[in-house]
This record gives sequence, structure tokens and C-alpha cells, in this order.
Amino acid sequence: MSPIVTGRPTIPRSSSPARSDLSWLVGGRMSTFDHGLAALLARRGVSRRAFLKFSATMAGVLALPPSYAPRIVAALERAPRIPVIWREGQDCAGNTEGFLRASHPTVAELVLDILSVDYHETIMAPAGAAAEESMLATMERYPNQYILVVEGSIPRADGGVYCTIGGRTFESIVREVADGALATITVGTCAFDGGLPAAAGGPTGAVGVSQLVPGLKVINLPGCPMNVQNLTATIVHYLTFEEWPAVDSYGRPLFAYGQLIHDQCERRAHFERGEYVVAWGDEGHRRGWCLYKMGCKGPETFANCPTVRFNDGTSWPVKAGHGCVGCTMPAFWDRMSPFYRRLPPPPPFASDVTADQLGIGFVGAIAGLTAIHGTASYIRRKRMKAEARAAAAGALEPPAGPAPSEAPPPVDPTSGAA
Ligand code: SF4
Repeated sequence: MSPIVTGRPTIPRSSSPARSDLSWLVGGRMSTFDHGLAALLARRGVSRRAFLKFSATMAGVLALPPSYAPRIVAALERAPRIPVIWREGQDCAGNTEGFLRASHPTVAELVLDILSVDYHETIMAPAGAAAEESMLATMERYPNQYILVVEGSIPRADGGVYCTIGGRTFESIVREVADGALATITVGTCAFDGGLPAAAGGPTGAVGVSQLVPGLKVINLPGCPMNVQNLTATIVHYLTFEEWPAVDSYGRPLFAYGQLIHDQCERRAHFERGEYVVAWGDEGHRRGWCLYKMGCKGPETFANCPTVRFNDGTSWPVKAGHGCVGCTMPAFWDRMSPFYRRLPPPPPFASDVTADQLGIGFVGAIAGLTAIHGTASYIRRKRMKAEARAAAAGALEPPAGPAPSEAPPPVDPTSGAA
């Protein structure tokens, strides 16, 4: 068995360009890749119409006005291909699957044409030593010019022996490759904060990239798995504006993780009316009512799942009938479970908070507030019914709006149970 190496000599690097300056990509050492994205897409049979549609979609994902679409088109048309080294540690390859399954309708081609994936264990042809040499060649040829994508957590217990590749610990690989990268992007919750391997009882001492290398500029795209549209949009943002998107204190792009799921959910109207699913398969479930009482963590979770969705934008967990489990939030396996029960109530505060203001220590706060809000909705609905009955009796005019429907009262926020 090969000895486990915890490091390797630093690769000598030439002077590197400013990281926000793309001129080196267009006219410099990247010229062998630079055939222009538009030309590449044309050769791949991607129509101009599909390209424009994709650019408009990206503007939407980035929460930009439609007027930005032409700017994205112009930027992408001259965009060079950026080398990517995609490393997998303790992972299930779910994010790789998401990356490969992207097809909206030509996102897969677009992503693969924007990015030159020089190293990816799951999809690359070389194996063994040849694969590692491929990665080293990219690092040496493009110092500070390649993107490192990390998928999976990094085990640190017992010298990092729980994940080794080519005789080296994953920890040493990530440290080295991140050191010479233009940017490091984590995909999925495991690379974000350790994910499932870091949950209570995990024996491997798993951490995410930000914990492994404090101070490293990391763009985190948590989720189980991440939404590939957010990865694409992050790259597109860089190519269009020559800077990475604004992030919150967890390194998550605000365009994707700046709003509560609860505030974007198509079932929100049912929540407001106090119409809840109380058992799987019940009448409320069949009619698409709110999953709050089934433990939905949408009120505590920041992500754009309801608007971007998955599978070509067709659906997302809540639309499919399952509550949100909060997989984009720190330590969600421990902090958001049990997944089918409400969280314990903390002191209430204003609902229009951001993830930064909320902080991981207060994920339950919004749960309590939401429960109170739900209770208020229920009381309001009861009052509307009483007013409607009074109006029917000729005592007063009926209230405006749809007729309230029958639904069980919201869960008691002090019970901590569904
Ligand atoms: S509790 Fe869940 S299902 Fe209900 S409105 Fe909020 S996010 Fe949607």
C-alpha cells in the first residue's frame, strides 16, 4: 500500500494576472481554448434562439432585470473557456449527477462549453497516475487561472485516512489545488460544511472547505444536491461582470440564497389561509395545501428552489408534495431534524430577516415566528367566517376576498410537535 502523503512541493508559479481581469483569458495563455462560445455552440448545433433563451434564464436566476440579458449574451459570445479542476472527497456524486443531467434545454452544452473540465474523476477518460498528471498539468499551465470545484466533505480525523486519492489525503489535495485557484466553488452541502459525514456521530472529522482553509475566498453552493442552475449562473456572472456574485456571511451567492423558501413557495397562500396537510395522503395533501405541519423547513431555509426548481424547472420537493428539509442551511442534518416535525420555538422577531441576520444559532426563531403567524392567519380566517355568517344573517357586509375553507388550526408553537 502506498504511503499517505500529506503534502507535495509547491508548484512554482509565474506572475499571475489580477483575478478580476479577464483579458488574460481572451488574449493571453488561454488562446488555445478561445474559439468564442458562440462559435462553439454553433458547431454543437445550439440555435441562436436557444442561446438567447438561456441568457434570459440566467438573468432571471441571477435576479437581474430582463434588460441584462443582452449584456449576458454579449459577454458569453466572447467568453473563453475556463479550466476547471473538479475534486470529489467524501461524497455521493449527487452534484456531479446534477451537473451531468443539466439540460434546459441546452444548459449541459453551455456549461460544458463555458468550462473546460480538465479533471473530474467521474467523467474523465484518464485514470490513476495519468489522471493526477492531468490535474498537475492544468495547475502548472494555468496558475491562479483555473476554478477549483470541490464536491464532498474533507475528513481530518486520524490524519485524514478516511479519504485518500492516489496515496494522498483529500485534505492535502484540496489545500494545494485551492492555493493556486482563481476561485474555489463548493457544490453541495458536504463541501460547504461537512454535510452528512459531519453530522452527530460521524467518525471522520469531516469539514467543509471554508473550515479547512479559513480565510480562503470560497463560493459556497450548498444543497443536497446543489442546483446546477446556480453553478451555471455563478460562472455566467463572473464572465459577464468580471467579478464573482455578492455572497452572504456563509459565502453563498445572494441571488440564490438571499430569500426564504417560505416567501417564494407556491403553497404560501394555503399557509396564509390556515390550510395544512396533517397526514400524508389526506385531503389537504391531495389538494396541494401547506406542508408546515408535516415539518416543512421552508420558513427557516434560504434558497431559490421554488423559482429555479429542478429537472428542467419542472418541480422541486415542496411542489412534489414533500416538505423542505433545509438542506442549504449550515449543519442541517442536526439542526433541521427531525425532518417531519416542527422545530422548538425560540423568541419571535421580525420575519423579514436575511440569513446573515438570522445566523445558524437562530434557525428555530423563524419557526416560532411562523407558527405565530400561522396562528394569526387561523384566527383571522375564523373571524372572516364569523363575519360571513353575520353578513348572511343581514347584520353586516361580507368581507372581500375568497371564502375561507375548513382547515385544522396551526400547530401550537410551544409544543415543538407537528
Ligand atoms: S411551510 Fe413549507 S409548504 Fe408551507 S408555504 Fe412555507 S415553504 Fe411552502
